[in-house]
Amino acid sequence: MQEQIAIKISQSVFKTFDDQYETISLRRVFSDNKQNTDTSIYTGSGGVVYTYYQIMKYLNLVKEQKDLLEHVSLRFQESLELNIKMIEEGRCKKGLKNPSFFQSVAGLYTIGALHYHEQKNQKEQERMLDKLLEHYYVFENDLGEYAEDEILYGISGYLYCLLEVISKIDAKNERALKRVHKIIDTLLMDGTQWSQSDEYILIKWPRDRKEKKFYMGGAHGLIGVLQILLQAVNIIPDLKSDKNLMLIIKNSCEFVVEMQLESGNFPSSLGKKDDILVHFCHGSTGASSFLVSAYQTFKEQKYLDSLFRAGELIWEKGLLKKGNGICHGISGNAYALHSIYRLTNDEKWLNRSLIFIKATFDSDIQQICADYDDQGRIIPGVPDCPYSLMEGIGGQLVLYSQALQEDMNSVKFPGYEIIF
Ligand SMILES: [Zn+2]
Repeated sequence: MQEQIAIKISQSVFKTFDDQYETISLRRVFSDNKQNTDTSIYTGSGGVVYTYYQIMKYLNLVKEQKDLLEHVSLRFQESLELNIKMIEEGRCKKGLKNPSFFQSVAGLYTIGALHYHEQKNQKEQERMLDKLLEHYYVFENDLGEYAEDEILYGISGYLYCLLEVISKIDAKNERALKRVHKIIDTLLMDGTQWSQSDEYILIKWPRDRKEKKFYMGGAHGLIGVLQILLQAVNIIPDLKSDKNLMLIIKNSCEFVVEMQLESGNFPSSLGKKDDILVHFCHGSTGASSFLVSAYQTFKEQKYLDSLFRAGELIWEKGLLKKGNGICHGISGNAYALHSIYRLTNDEKWLNRSLIFIKATFDSDIQQICADYDDQGRIIPGVPDCPYSLMEGIGGQLVLYSQALQEDMNSVKFPGYEIIF
């Protein structure tokens, strides 16, 4: 199995990706070959930086493909600097306005800081960290109280960046810790206002929409915000001793578990009874990492029971015809199954995750995906952004690079899982 994945990295999938480097390292590329400037990690050129970063980490471990490592390292360095430059020169305005890992320059600075830290290049690490921490003022001045709370576009996504830095680079970075506290205060203030209760939070998205829509899922909703908060309290001891914060988080986690549908899935928004989506963005895929974090934090059986119900549904329905993407595809569901394995050590979940990874290069399954007539897409059967991190083969390469490593803790859902 591992050999099969290795071949996909060293030959077919990687080659398809790398051949497009000149275009995708600067743009968002659509399936109809249209292009625009979009430096986001989610579907733009920032995701290319992240993909090379993860492949480079894997190649650094195997040591035998020196030429390839050199090539990938150059690509990474070049695309990182180019993307940051484009945003700072105002060629991708979205990147400065947004706070989040997935949709702003904060994601690029975070990747840069982690990389230079691993390289023991103190000077460059500090340069990236400074930029990441300064970014707080850029979006705060620009968006102020209009900043979203969710992960994909909002401040929970910036909190993710800070937690990466605090957990992997500098646990005592006061500037980062100060921002963590401010963001958590905002999340609680907004969230309790929307729930109209002091006891738990809700997440409204978009926040200025007239209709009150409270999303539940990983990318846009409560589950995603709680997943980041749960990791925050486990990374920063001060937070765990804050009784009020812990109580609100716990009540909110219980609220989510009570929303679980009979099938094991979770509704995409509050009050919605549809039970269709098994994705990271909406549904049990995004919920599984959250339930792992909730169990690790509160050690209550109900989170484990809920996790297994979600996991069985992902195993049953998770080979999505939408293809191999992370956000709404087979790779994302492979990550979710893997998170259950890391918690339980039960080989059943590892095997299920590997079967899903294998499905990303199984010709019969791939044919079914290619034939799937999804009218919501530019070209049915092809992801809208076919090389991107969250929809395209960038994400597949990241998953392969992590699954090939001996340390199973290397398999972590991008932008979502830090410690568990
Ligand atoms: Zn999605």
